[in-house]
Amino acid sequence: MDTAAEERAFSIPMRTRFRDVTTREGVLVRGPAGWGEFSPFPEYPPRECARWWAACYEAAVLGWPAPVRDTIPVNVTVPAVDPEHAARIVTDSDCTTAKVKVAQVGQDPAEDVDRVAAVRDALGRDGRIRIDANGAWDRDTAVRMLGRLGPFELEYVEQPCAAVEDLAHVRRRSSVPVAADESIRRAEDPMRVRSAGAADIVVLKAQPLGGVRSALRVAEACGLPVVVSSAVETSVGLAAGAALAAALPELPYACGLATMQLLSADVCAEPLSPVGGRLPVRRPEVDEHRLCAVETRSPTPARRMAEARRIWHQEHTDPSPHGL
Ligand SMILES: [Mg+2]
Repeated sequence: MDTAAEERAFSIPMRTRFRDVTTREGVLVRGPAGWGEFSPFPEYPPRECARWWAACYEAAVLGWPAPVRDTIPVNVTVPAVDPEHAARIVTDSDCTTAKVKVAQVGQDPAEDVDRVAAVRDALGRDGRIRIDANGAWDRDTAVRMLGRLGPFELEYVEQPCAAVEDLAHVRRRSSVPVAADESIRRAEDPMRVRSAGAADIVVLKAQPLGGVRSALRVAEACGLPVVVSSAVETSVGLAAGAALAAALPELPYACGLATMQLLSADVCAEPLSPVGGRLPVRRPEVDEHRLCAVETRSPTPARRMAEARRIWHQEHTDPSPHGL
């Protein structure tokens, strides 16, 4: 075990449940290049967590490639709330792109239509709207709903169905571009999605793909436009997403990196939050008091990281020169 690096396990409650997650747990690691974050979701097995470790290692030891832009346009996310609430979220955000959650269990399709209509009114004609079904529609429902929502001029639909072949079907039957999000979990997935004709756009996240360089390689190999999204991280992890978005040669869409407000606390005095709908590309300083306030004595995050690190170093034989 390493003695040179500083490792601090954290546990931060979410403001609202995200998928089935109510608390984000992980480890922050300080290395010569700065702080890195290791925070895989609880259900991820050790072999997948190894890539999250690689992203943490890159942030702490290697640093990131040079940016080609210094701010990142970001979208506001509108949960499955009533129309008035949806409009207020958009108006309060300063963002010109909104991602509207649809296909919520227990809701009527008309509620999706009313919510998207309210967001279009709030954004005006120049704003951009994407919707996200999180894979909840079957292929026929997806085609039908895109027909109903089409008049609101959607820039794309994110993961209308769960299965890749259903995404391809929807893409053939609808004029609304399709983005793959949940279908992409591993480095080989974007190519699989592309060869199946299942997506026009891929949503990439730095941590699960093994870091900024690895995600850049995936983006280049895939060749489809990329939307960078967060894995609901602290500002330390979000900075890696911003670094990825900043290094991509083309960035035609707003990114899903405005997620800091989903957490009830951060580890930085100046959290990585958008200003005027754009996220600054910077590495925020970790604040000792804030880090102490969210530090956990639970051994689980450190244990998961040790296992992920062991697997990663087995597969990458060059030993770390920095003791990480
Ligand atoms: Mg999504």
